[in-house]
Amino acid sequence: MTKMKLGVDVDGTLANTVDVFLEYLKKNHQIEVDREEIVSYEMTKHVPLSKKEVHGIWKRVWEEHPKIKLEDANAPEVLKRLGDRFEIHIVTATNAREQDLKGWLSANRIPYNKIQKFKGQVHKVDSKVDVHVDDCFEISELFIKSNIRLILLEQPWNKRHHGLVKNEKLVKIAKNWKQIEGILGR
Ligand SMILES: [Mg+2]
Repeated sequence: MTKMKLGVDVDGTLANTVDVFLEYLKKNHQIEVDREEIVSYEMTKHVPLSKKEVHGIWKRVWEEHPKIKLEDANAPEVLKRLGDRFEIHIVTATNAREQDLKGWLSANRIPYNKIQKFKGQVHKVDSKVDVHVDDCFEISELFIKSNIRLILLEQPWNKRHHGLVKNEKLVKIAKNWKQIEGILGR
């Protein structure tokens, strides 16, 4: 039997890049922003920096990837179990260079079969997976239109949008990776 394909996003889903971003901001720009204040996916709305500056910091964050912690310490073991039933595709629009991304995934023992890197969140829908896990609410309508199941990992930047999910059969919300495993069934 062919395995179903599970797409897994990196930033904000596996990798806690936001905390490293905010630390960098505090240290190098003397700007203090709390994680809970990032209530949408558009970082420039929540920090007094330009798109270019924000992009530059994301790049720096990934250049120092050993500092990046897991969003959920259970994610690697959950993915290992899911690997019995799913082909795991890392589906990402990250700013990370390939070697940094691969280095981080390997250091954190994330099992995967393939990496699909896209330029921009909206293109992730082209990954052709059967179900996708992400922290970006803004892509949910695209996934609904393509009839792809989406699991949103709860984050301060998507929490306010949960009530706006238009198709509760296709889009589920999970608080952590154990709940993601529960949604995907045994
Ligand atoms: Mg993400």
